[in-house]
Amino acid sequence: MTSKKQYFLSVLFVAFISLFCSSSCEASYLNVSRIVKVGLTKLGCPQTFTIEPSTGYIEIFDRSKNHAVYSGKAEKASLSLLKDGKMKLSIDDRKTLYFANNELLFSAVGRMPINLKIRGGSSKIQTYRGSISLAPERGGLLAVNHVDMEDYLKSVVPCEIWVRAPEAAQEAQTIAARTYAVRHINRHPNPRYQICDTVHCQVYTGIVRETPLAAKAVRKTEGQILSFSKAPANTVYHSNCGGYLISSKAAWSGSEIPYLVGHFDGTPGEDSFCSYGNRFKKSQPTGRLPKPEAGLKAKPLPWNARKLEHKNYGHRVGMCQDGAIGMALIGYSARQILAFYYPGTRLETLNYAGPQIDSEEIEPVKEPVVLASARIQPVQTAQLLPLEGPINPTQISALKRQSTPSETRKSNILNTLKEISTVRAGNTASGVRKMFWTPAEPGLSKNRGVF
Ligand SMILES: [Zn+2]
Ligand SMILES: [Zn+2]
Repeated sequence: MTSKKQYFLSVLFVAFISLFCSSSCEASYLNVSRIVKVGLTKLGCPQTFTIEPSTGYIEIFDRSKNHAVYSGKAEKASLSLLKDGKMKLSIDDRKTLYFANNELLFSAVGRMPINLKIRGGSSKIQTYRGSISLAPERGGLLAVNHVDMEDYLKSVVPCEIWVRAPEAAQEAQTIAARTYAVRHINRHPNPRYQICDTVHCQVYTGIVRETPLAAKAVRKTEGQILSFSKAPANTVYHSNCGGYLISSKAAWSGSEIPYLVGHFDGTPGEDSFCSYGNRFKKSQPTGRLPKPEAGLKAKPLPWNARKLEHKNYGHRVGMCQDGAIGMALIGYSARQILAFYYPGTRLETLNYAGPQIDSEEIEPVKEPVVLASARIQPVQTAQLLPLEGPINPTQISALKRQSTPSETRKSNILNTLKEISTVRAGNTASGVRKMFWTPAEPGLSKNRGVF
């Protein structure tokens, strides 16, 4: 090779690297997997799970042995933990089909949702979008829901805020919940799941809790999070601040966080936003409302101020949900609500990895597609975004248990990408979902600007 050519190539290389870094290195915290693994800890760890695919077709995959166990018609699949620690799988009450030691992944072939039922001791029956994995844990089986982040939020928002909250408050709650999930994605030491379905992370109960209002807020704010200093902000929220927010330092000690400061929850001379919100929740209409103030800014109080106007509910740091409802009622937008409760944060949009899937229709399709199974790559533990932040007292015990992720972000994201592209589905022209199990660079080209 001539030196001229070499020079030209090296210039190209440098240009490529700098382009790559300017577009994605700086904002790598925005590159996250669409799929979030939610530990369904509220279901407990029963000995037997029964899973009913809404389409009548199921695919079951042994993740440790890296091969499909079953793909075809099934009213229900049952998995039981035996005394020797093995799991026994059977389909439609037929004889035992398979024995497994490790995680099995259940996906409905066709359209979501997939039904997860517990047979035996408990009467809990829940319906989830996405796939369900089951593996031995704590003397029974623990279920994990592999679900699209946006679908996850459709259930979280109505679980966390008053279901009839006005649109702007629902949108603000959605962005806060999405940010919170992304920031705390590695909170649990268990490699099988990233966040749990209880108040410890965020309450999630699957499809049963979804509302059209929340779904609309999720769609409207797709991928949006708040960031601060090139990381997702710690968007803690609570029910009612009592008229005055307090700083994170006053609540949990540690260093002061610029966007979690104490201030009056309202505009001077008026009642607090949460008192309007609270009145609205109890009885509509609310009477005279103040006008929304352009360029509304919170006036910070000294960090240790703990003023109170009325009875509070929750830790009083970050977004006051009743206050957000009051603000929405007065006419403030979601952006204004977030700017008031998390001053100085930026609204940004995630670069989701993996193809986008329209899972709006939850009715089962008449003619599901069943595909042959092929080998997939072994599943890696997805550990995205190791982050630090102020501690919520309700989360201290979990944080103590948390092992610090040591992997580099990039390889983690790549591993996750591999996993998603093998586990996620695409839509055929007829709108029927196909499951792709082949590992050969699937779907990566569809990414929107990631790598
Ligand atoms: Zn948790
Ligand atoms: Zn308040």
